[in-house]
Formats: sequence, structure tokens, C-alpha cells
Amino acid sequence: MKRIIVIGGGAAGLGAAYKLKRASQEGHEVEILLVEKSRIGGKVATEMVDHDGEQFTVDGGPDCFLTEKPAVHRIAQSLGIFDDELPTDDSRKKTLILSRGRLYEMPDGIMMFAPTKFVPFATTGLFSWPGKFRMAMDLFIPPKTVAEGTLNDETLEDFVVRRMGRECLDRLAEPLVGGVHASDPTMMSLAATFPRLLEMEQNYGSLMRAFLASRKKVEQMRKKYPPKPGAKPKTFFTTMIGGMQRLTDGMAGAIGAENIKTGVSAEKLERTEDGRWTVTLSDGSVETSDAVIVATETFAAEPLLRGVDNDIANALAGIPTSSSATVSIAFEESEVGIDMNAFGVLCPLVENRALMAATYSSTKWPGRAPKGKVMFRGFVGGPQNQEIMEKSDEELFEIVLSEMRSILGIRADAKPLFKRLFRWHRGMPQYTLGHLDRVAQIEERCEATPGLALAGGSYRGVGVPNCIESGERAATKVLTEWGIELEEDRVEEKRAF
Ligand SMILES: Cc1cc2nc3c(=O)[nH]c(=O)nc-3n(C[C@H](O)[C@H](O)[C@H](O)COP(=O)(O)OP(=O)(O)OC[C@H]3O[C@@H](n4cnc5c(N)ncnc54)[C@H](O)[C@@H]3O)c2cc1C
Repeated sequence: MKRIIVIGGGAAGLGAAYKLKRASQEGHEVEILLVEKSRIGGKVATEMVDHDGEQFTVDGGPDCFLTEKPAVHRIAQSLGIFDDELPTDDSRKKTLILSRGRLYEMPDGIMMFAPTKFVPFATTGLFSWPGKFRMAMDLFIPPKTVAEGTLNDETLEDFVVRRMGRECLDRLAEPLVGGVHASDPTMMSLAATFPRLLEMEQNYGSLMRAFLASRKKVEQMRKKYPPKPGAKPKTFFTTMIGGMQRLTDGMAGAIGAENIKTGVSAEKLERTEDGRWTVTLSDGSVETSDAVIVATETFAAEPLLRGVDNDIANALAGIPTSSSATVSIAFEESEVGIDMNAFGVLCPLVENRALMAATYSSTKWPGRAPKGKVMFRGFVGGPQNQEIMEKSDEELFEIVLSEMRSILGIRADAKPLFKRLFRWHRGMPQYTLGHLDRVAQIEERCEATPGLALAGGSYRGVGVPNCIESGERAATKVLTEWGIELEEDRVEEKRAF
């Protein structure tokens, strides 16, 4: 029997433990212990709020995942909750951007931050005429020369300003790309976050040409393979009916309560002379195992790894984080006095607002609020506004409410039915320049250390599907060392050929 300890019960730790559980269900002799300091799910946190006998679904961390990434679908299928995946209601899709104090609709045809349709781009008031001309220069600016054998990388700011100008960065790319990652565009590594943009520049010589080609390809595919009648629409983002926590709860259920310890943290990690591991827990107990997967945030992983492998610990210390919070507020629909046909509002940094973005949660996700009620979710914090995190809960509620009133136009006399705040202290890893080198170093050192793997959103993708996959990769590393190959991986391999 091989024993493994997974430290951290977020999406990554659960992804790892669930894969290990599948190994044991296939008859392999694997025993799992998942240790979680606070609550299962980590940042995946849903609260069902009962207001006067009516239910609201409030996601405090992630509220969705990218549909094109397969990990969540695969897990949902194996848990038997695939039918509970919920697409967005695209009949009401509209993204608003705050610009010079006014809300503008995102022009049709904008892909990432590149316009692909002339008329909506030419007629939008979101950009000035000089700004539009500068963006169009992308068609003529030659691609960057990348020396053979060097990593093509630069910050989001450098890339966008070079190709499409400062106004495009400030008004569109920063809130859309930087904001989504809660990252500082002056530090954010493009190779670590959106490598496709760098490839597109090299392959097409222009982002606009690249996105136009990609849009045409999608349109052709849609024509060739129209959705089957009655099939669930495939929208850009997907969530779960009942909130994202359905997924992590489902995974924890499948792993089995007998294999999970919550409310205790791993305090010390040691490798014994015979290559086994001991983990000292906060309740004073000491657990031993043949392998360990550290699936915590980097700032929690670093002290555990210090002493085990200082190179790993140093690389972990080089990954910065930023804190943020989400505030969900519900109202009577009849009182808000705004058009609810929108998915959200983006507030660029140059607008100098406390609110980074707001989601019209009850519009974007049908069923999040009961009939006749609406719910919004505001984001605050991020690398450029860490001071706001010092505010008390009451102050944060007031700030977000007042921003929603002044930016979204919610009537001042609309009374909140309830408010929910979720704070994410150091919750967003920052993929800054050099991130890929740091991750490569961590992976190399783990590769050289039998029985050790790291997983989580701090390495190769922050999205929930990326985190699950990262946990699964960590599990596979250990299983492979034990000479175990899962049936599902054999099928995957066959599919790949
Ligand atoms: C506000 C917000 C909104 C987001 N929105 C989206 C979205 O819409 N879609 C999307 O795909 N992604 C989104 N993300 C990103 C995504 O939620 C995270 O990247 C992902 O959930 C991280 O999973 P993880 O397992 O790596 O880490 P975590 O969820 O942070 O899990 C790590 C766990 O380790 C535990 N731990 C720490 N130290 C110890 C210790 N010593 N012993 C035991 N346990 C320990 C922690 O308590 C925690 O539960 C969002 C993130 C935030 C903060």
C-alpha cells in the first residue's frame, strides 16, 4: 500500500486527491490523506443566502470557468453533475466599459482587445479618433524580432502599447485582460498568461489580422457544425446550477470524508532518510507517507518547502500575490431603475474608481436570484489598490454600494436586500516577468525529488480548470513513479494519437 498526503483542499488539491481516489478505485493500492487548513474548496466558495424564504446563490470566489477548457466538464461528467452545468444567457449579453465617467457598450467584434468589425469600431465613442487610428496601425507595425533560442516575453503594457497604443491599453486591454487576472499590466508576463497573443503576432504579423482569421474560422465551424436542436448552448463561460461549490463538494464527496481532515494545517514537512515524508499537523499529530503533494498558495508552500529544497522555496518566494474582495448585493428588480440586460461593467484603472468591475450576476447566470430580485457582484482590490483591503467590512460594503450607484446608475433609494463580502487575502498569484523560469525551476526540482509534487493556480494557469489539471498532473507524477498508469490516461493517450 502506498500512502500519499495532499496538503490543501482547493481545486488543485481536490483535483489531485480525486485522481488518486480513481487510482484506488481501479484497484491500485493507494491510500490518500487530504489535509485542509480551513474549508474544502479553497477559493471556490458558494453561499446559499435565504432572504425572506427565497434563495439566492452567491459565489464568493470564482463564479464560472472557461467553457473551452475540458477539465471541469470531465470531472462533472464523472461526478454525474454534467447536466447541472449552466451556460450564460447570451440573449442578454452586453459588456459595458466605463470611459471618461460614462458607460459604453463594448463594440461588437472586439476579440480580446482587437477590433475585427469595422463599423462598430469606427462608430464607438469608447476610443478617441487618434486612439482608433493608433489601434489600426497594428495592421502595419512589423512583428517584434525574437532572437533564436530566447523566450518571447514582455509585459502586457509593453505589448499592447507597442502594437495598438496607450489608449487601447488604458481603455480596453488593462480592464479586460489585466483586470480579469487582477494583475498589474506593467509587470504581467504575457508568455505566462496569454502566450497565444505572442504567437499570433509572430504568425500573422498583426493582432487584428490574427483575430479576424480566428473569428472567420469560428464562424465557418459554426456553419459546418450547427448546434443540435435542444442542445445546451455552448457559451464562452459556464457555471454550475447551485454555484461553483457544487463541483468541489462533489469532488470531496467522491474522495470520501474518511480521507479528508479539515481544520488542521500542515506545519512542517520533512523528508526522511529512507525517502519517505513526515507532515506535522497543527493538532500535534505527525503523518507519514510515501509521497506528498503541496497544493497550497505559494506563501503557505514556501515555509513547508524551506529546508526540504531551498531552490523550490526561493522560487516560490519570487511569485508575488495581490489581495482582492468580492461584494455581492441584491435588490428588488423594480427598485434598481437600470437596464438589467448586461453581464457586467469594467472600470479601467485610468478612471480612478474603487470598483474594478461588477457582474450582473442574476442576468449572467439565470437562477442566481429569485424572480423579481436582482443581484450584482463587485470586485475591489488588485495590485494597484491594495490599500482598500485595509477597510472594515462595513466600509467595503458602503464603498461598493456607492460605486454601484454612481457607475451602474442604481437608484439611490434602492434598498439592498442583503450584502455578502468575501475577502481573498493574497488570493491572486501574479505571473510577472520571469514567472515561467521560476515555475520551470520548481518543476525541475520536483522532477528530481521522488514523491514530491506541487500544484495550484500559482503556476501554469489561475482558472479553476487549470488548477484541477495541475492537481491531476501532480497525482500522475507520483503514480508514474509508483509504476501506476490509470485506464483513463491510456484512453487519453489513444485519443491523442
Ligand atoms: C475573487 C476571485 C475570483 C475568481 N474568479 C474566477 C473565475 O470566475 N473563474 C476561474 O476559473 N477562476 C477564478 N479565480 C481563480 C481561481 O478561483 C483560483 O485560481 C483557484 O480556485 C485556486 O485553486 P487552488 O487549489 O490553487 O488554491 P486555493 O483555492 O487557494 O486552495 C489552497 C488551499 O490550501 C489551504 N492551505 C493553505 N495552507 C495550508 C496548510 N499549511 N495546510 C493545509 N492547508 C493549507 C488553504 O486553506 C486553501 O484551501 C478567481 C479567484 C478569485 C480570488
